[in-house]
Amino acid sequence: MKSLDKPRAGSYDLHCHSLASDGAWTPRQVVDTAYERGVRVLALTDHDTLDGLPEASSAASQYPDLEFVPGTELSCLWNGRVIHVVGLGFDVDYSGWPDYLQMLADLRIKRAKRIAGKLRHTGIEDLFERAKKLTAGDGVIGRPHFAKVLVESKVVSTEQEAFERFLGRGRLGDVKAEWPEIEVAVKQIKAAGGIAVLAHPTKYHFSFSKLRKLAEDFIAFGGQGIEVSFPGVSPNHQRDLLLLAERCGLVISAGSDFHSPEQHWTGLGRYPGFDRKTLTHVLDQLFGNGNNEI
Ligand code: AMP
Ligand code: MN
Ligand code: MN
Ligand code: MN
Repeated sequence: MKSLDKPRAGSYDLHCHSLASDGAWTPRQVVDTAYERGVRVLALTDHDTLDGLPEASSAASQYPDLEFVPGTELSCLWNGRVIHVVGLGFDVDYSGWPDYLQMLADLRIKRAKRIAGKLRHTGIEDLFERAKKLTAGDGVIGRPHFAKVLVESKVVSTEQEAFERFLGRGRLGDVKAEWPEIEVAVKQIKAAGGIAVLAHPTKYHFSFSKLRKLAEDFIAFGGQGIEVSFPGVSPNHQRDLLLLAERCGLVISAGSDFHSPEQHWTGLGRYPGFDRKTLTHVLDQLFGNGNNEI
């Protein structure tokens, strides 16, 4: 066990992205930068892929005091709404991963072609091919790649604007994929020996009672954790999430959801600090520490 005696906000980051999905940096750049910023426990959690993990793990092994945790962020559905579940600390060699991830990759390609069709009126030629190219060849394709092409083609001036006008919730390019049900995603992570964590719960814009219903279903399927801190979470929402964790018996987690240095509101190891009170931290479960303090 490495120096995990007193993890504090910033000293660990259990949610971030690389070029393997919609992040801007290679897994190695993510690891090196996180380390420079003082992160000592890091999970790379690319969307629906494990492809960045070997490079990240190898980069992390250069730092004797950095603990690397294999991670992923799985897309799934709960009552027809898209939910993200972070998996942490699983066996990357679990035999059930290749088929599961191939199924998600196929869904993403199918959806990307439909997005390109829906956005044909923007007049961009080869929209699908250009978005695919931005995934560094074989990365997981997502809406952010379309946002980048829209910026490059000067249809919009920022990726944010691309989401507001074309890709965000309810917009033309917000094409629903037939993601697996949340039960399937949670069971997949559990079968691989990992811990399933409900990602950024306030981003679904649910009422507290609906969020509680989601948390109860999540637990019934084997989910164990909930993110209580991530960029943009308000102090009130954070209090609600800590309360939800306490009431439902979920362990808590936190991370930057870092994608790119252009996102000035976040950075590796950056998210609001919080008082964990007597709650169990996911790091306690991953590393067996009884007395972590944040
Ligand atoms: P996808 O997985 O293809 O559905 O794309 C979801 C990703 O798009 C998220 O993980 C974010 O990285 C990004 N995203 C979602 N909403 C926005 C937004 N309003 N502005 C910028 N990026 C967003
Ligand atoms: Mn993303
Ligand atoms: Mn997410
Ligand atoms: Mn994320």
